[in-house]
Amino acid sequence: MTQDATPLDPSSSWLADERPLPYDTTTTGPSLDPSNPLATAPVARPPRTVDGFAREYLRELNFGEGVALSRASQNDQYLALARTIRHYLMADWLETARRRRENPTKMVGYLSAEYLLGRQMGNALLATDLGAIADQALKSLGLDLRTLRAQEVEPGLGNGGLGRLAACFVDSLATMDVPCIGYGIRYEYGIFRQTFEGGRQVEVPDSWLSLGGPWEFPHPDRAVTVGFGGSTETYVEDAGDGSGRQVQRSRWVPAWNVLGVPYHYMVPGYQNGVVNTLRLWSARATQAFDLQIFNSGDYAAAVRAQTFAENISKVLYPEDSTPQGRELRLQQQYFFVACSLKDFIDRTLEKDFDLHRLHERIIFQLNDTHPVIAIPEMMRLLMDEHGMEWDEAWAVTQKCFAYTCHTLLPEALEVWPVELVGRLLPRHLEIIYRINEEFLETVREAFPGDELRVRRMSIIQDHPERAVRMANLATVAGVKVNGVAELHSQLLRDKVLPDFSEMWPDKFTNVTNGVTPRRFIRLANPTLSQLITDTIGVGWETKLERLESLEPYAEDEEFRERFAAAKQANKKRLRELLAVRDGIELPEHGMVDVMVKRLHEYKRQTLKLLHIVSLYEQIISGQVDKDSVVPRTFVFGAKAAPGYHMAKEIIYLINSVAATINADERVKGVLTVAFPANYNVTLANKLIPAADLSEQISLAGKEASGTGNMKFALNGALTIGTDDGANVEIRKLVGDDNFFLFGMDEPQVAALQAKGYVPSAVYESNPQLKRAIDLIASGHFTGGDRGLAATVVDDLLYNDRFMTLADFQSYIDVQGEVDEVYRDQERWTRSAILNVARSGFFSSDRSMKDYLRRIWMPTHD
Ligand SMILES: *Cc1c(COP(=O)(O)O)cnc(C)c1O
Repeated sequence: MTQDATPLDPSSSWLADERPLPYDTTTTGPSLDPSNPLATAPVARPPRTVDGFAREYLRELNFGEGVALSRASQNDQYLALARTIRHYLMADWLETARRRRENPTKMVGYLSAEYLLGRQMGNALLATDLGAIADQALKSLGLDLRTLRAQEVEPGLGNGGLGRLAACFVDSLATMDVPCIGYGIRYEYGIFRQTFEGGRQVEVPDSWLSLGGPWEFPHPDRAVTVGFGGSTETYVEDAGDGSGRQVQRSRWVPAWNVLGVPYHYMVPGYQNGVVNTLRLWSARATQAFDLQIFNSGDYAAAVRAQTFAENISKVLYPEDSTPQGRELRLQQQYFFVACSLKDFIDRTLEKDFDLHRLHERIIFQLNDTHPVIAIPEMMRLLMDEHGMEWDEAWAVTQKCFAYTCHTLLPEALEVWPVELVGRLLPRHLEIIYRINEEFLETVREAFPGDELRVRRMSIIQDHPERAVRMANLATVAGVKVNGVAELHSQLLRDKVLPDFSEMWPDKFTNVTNGVTPRRFIRLANPTLSQLITDTIGVGWETKLERLESLEPYAEDEEFRERFAAAKQANKKRLRELLAVRDGIELPEHGMVDVMVKRLHEYKRQTLKLLHIVSLYEQIISGQVDKDSVVPRTFVFGAKAAPGYHMAKEIIYLINSVAATINADERVKGVLTVAFPANYNVTLANKLIPAADLSEQISLAGKEASGTGNMKFALNGALTIGTDDGANVEIRKLVGDDNFFLFGMDEPQVAALQAKGYVPSAVYESNPQLKRAIDLIASGHFTGGDRGLAATVVDDLLYNDRFMTLADFQSYIDVQGEVDEVYRDQERWTRSAILNVARSGFFSSDRSMKDYLRRIWMPTHD
């Protein structure tokens, strides 16, 4: 028996001691004066030994999950493991927060409606450097880390590139020890799970939380109230500056409220003891609202009220770049930014901080237009709740936001009908009108008599309906506006917001996207990572430009062999995964040619499909000898937005072509098409390291940046791509000899558009293209049913908005060059090595440095 150090006080009478205090939500703070030194000591860290980890794990399993090891399900085992790993991050998290509170500096508030995080466990083990210890500890208990890691359902709180970018950025900021809070929404259902039935996409709800969410910390006691609807009123009060002056003020009287409950996620830096916070908001019905109806006896109404409130964070909108004018979506947007601004001003900032200096403490980065309603919300808070006058509030607001634009498609620029904004957020609409009035005055001063320009620049559009242009609002209020790749930022200035860039040239800047090398090289590609570390030493994971020193090894035969062997190992890993996951059998040899990204017409999955069908047609018709073709495995991965009809037809066609080709003995072992369902971060991490060829084939001028393209180059795939998005920068860096460029560039696209593009004329004049399209149209891939292929075929022939046919021949020609280089494996591997060595620029750490220098903290060096 152990001896208790503190003797019991015999006079202690705990039963009599329950005090009738009011419920108190404030934190203990400095009034705490404990006699036990443990209370003020640094948070104890669990031991970093195999034995210590095993004990910690069993404690979690027994006391946290409430099960004995012998009775634990795999899910129990996974949850206990997640919580155990979490313990090791906690001390750093609390310490990081304490350090930031004691020495408050300017923070980044990253406002994003999406965070496509991917699985947490591997990243947490990597950040804490606990992988080997956990592995051994579990083994000693008869458990297997790799099995338990596979239990995790990834948090899919984003659609694709935009949400994944946000996840990479918060990872990099933690790794660079930059104070940041990521703000977003804790969707109960993330991006849908994709399955195929008869080759067609079927969406299954993503109930990622149904078996427990071990990585989150709910704080219902810190809930924030958010209003909706109602009306505004004005009143007169004393200015409060001692002058005795009376001022007119406004206030908003919402018709209904919801509660925003924060859920905290830890964002660990890479092995640096820093853990930042991701704060995601979940909507709840307020008790008052609830109880009032409940007491009136209308139970169904009470339930409806609850459902109504909770719907706000129920589900991620499965849209990608085309917004849906849905009321719930605007509710989501306002909900999460209102919670976030209040959280920052009331909770994160020191008490009594002078809000005139707010910009010295925070810069809110608006990830696309989804959080732009934060601008009028900030004005409202500063004026209506903190007593500032318009000019003061506007001066502060203008310094607190910066805006990232993510698109070039005009239909993807978000607008909200005035009617809807006025109904849901009447005070905000007033504020937007006033911002616009004053802004248009400055436009008229700068460009007298140019009323057309005034109309183009107005935050309010009149046609086709009166609506608020969120990109214009963000541009007017933001410190900076950035595009996400060189070409995109240029087109943003020249084509998307030309009037604004003429008026404020200095407002516009570029920050080329990046990806985190921790997740997308170290975790995704352990074999290549080991080779890199063996060759250039440790530390490249946080200084990715060091990959440069791999360059001379492209000429080193032994290194090339090891590099090629790593790729082979990744291909084997992929074959094993797809066999189990999807029942897909892949051949052992040949090129792995991968196109994975959201399904969108501008990305042109149909161009890839035409290439495959054309190769197939040439072989079965005898024009090309099967044995002269470089064997290829084509891999697709793509989700279509549920309401995007054409995208779903394309998915069906890809699956139909795959089924036909894979069953055709005439091309066996030469052409294989695989379309594993449910492309997500977890699958990306297995697919990308196995790829030889990366397909980045959007119509030039349509892809803002892309980040998939970067992941592939960093994992040693060669790119076949158009001059679009960040492909331009990839090609510049890796060199023309190590990049397969094809297709029109943006000016050529614009010229063809101006001249009048006729896809059917291209079809008629190109026999190879014609044979491929005719084969699809004949029903060859759709069980003889021509109707099933007609939607896609007709669109290509008579519409082809993204000029697939115009780029076909160039694409086919360059694919021929791809084959030629691939036949020379030594040359291919040399190029692949140079792709890795020259892509260090695409680390999201570099993106963060650019944001810091160009936007967030311009004096930062
Ligand atoms: C990187 C990534 C994307 C973005 O891919 P793009 O090719 O740039 O469109 C989309 N989805 C997932 C799961 C990703 O990991």
